[in-house]
Amino acid sequence: MKTDIKSMLPDEIESALIEMGEPKYRAKQIFSWLNKGVGSFNEMSDLSKKLREALDKRFYITVPRPIRKQVSQLDGTIKYLWELMDGNAVETVVMSYKHGNTVCISTQVGCRQGCAFCASTIGGLLRNLEPSEMLDEVLFSQLDSGLNISNIVLMGIGEPLDNYDNVMKFLKLVNHPDGMNIGMRHISLSTCGLTEQIDKLADLNLQLTLSISLHAPDDETRSKLMPANRGRGVDELVSVCKRYFERTGRRISFEYAMIDGVNDLPDHAKKLADIAKECSAHVNLIPLNYVEERSFRPSTAENLKKFVKILDDNGVNSTVRRKLGGDVDASCGQLRRKAANKGD
Ligand code: SAH
Repeated sequence: MKTDIKSMLPDEIESALIEMGEPKYRAKQIFSWLNKGVGSFNEMSDLSKKLREALDKRFYITVPRPIRKQVSQLDGTIKYLWELMDGNAVETVVMSYKHGNTVCISTQVGCRQGCAFCASTIGGLLRNLEPSEMLDEVLFSQLDSGLNISNIVLMGIGEPLDNYDNVMKFLKLVNHPDGMNIGMRHISLSTCGLTEQIDKLADLNLQLTLSISLHAPDDETRSKLMPANRGRGVDELVSVCKRYFERTGRRISFEYAMIDGVNDLPDHAKKLADIAKECSAHVNLIPLNYVEERSFRPSTAENLKKFVKILDDNGVNSTVRRKLGGDVDASCGQLRRKAANKGD
């Protein structure tokens, strides 16, 4: 059984080299080659042939295959479908903003959170993504598109905190100065609210931005929309968010998809304002995106306006998220697990 070398940090590669009786300083060279996207040890031209062969016996290098690339006619957003080495496939989105290019990556093949409005959970969870596979989403999106990626959002398919260890390892890999070197402040992690893991994350005191997919300010509505709320509850989520802010000093964002008649009434806005103030959180409103299998509709422009005003009157700033990639189903909640062989 070979080991996945792209999921290893330079110090882990060093230990492996020592075990192989090779000089450990080669680790930095190897790590840097991996972060250039080479597909084989043979391409690592500054290593001896003997070392390249020895590495090839012990390790493999993941290479995703782009089986589909769609470019939005509206705003240039790119959506990739990557085939992984075991034949599974995941989607990644590249968006261009004035402040730089952002890649939205998937963290799992499918999702088991079951949110009622989201396409990514249809069909459930197949498996977690490895750290290398998440790194590849960033790396190969950059290589294929020719766009320099400066920001990462963990907002694609899957629940990042349900794949906690691999996601933490990925963050270390992508943040490493000898690798892609993307700063934590340029990374956002979004969660449906797995409170135990949010607490664990707070202890790491990372400088990333934590987004909470809130979508409803009361248990009745939230538990209907998001099974992750059942057995936890909004109160527990609020306490955890407060603790997170106190420990890290980093402001949390609340994501709130506006669903017609479900979570967009004045009473919801008032409750949301209270919670946001309690947690010192910023509110991001997202007009619900269309998902064929779901019956929900986006809020009307009028209700959205009223909602924003109530938040405003209660001292809470909100932004309405601009929709990108709508014509290629690349918007929030529209990514899904697909069969690689069908490519659709
Ligand atoms: N599992 C994580 C990461 C997914 S991020 C999480 O839940 O946060 C994707 C974001 O899009 C989440 O905020 C999710 O709730 C939101 N979303 C899902 N379906 C949507 C839809 N149909 N319209 C708008 N946003 C949606």
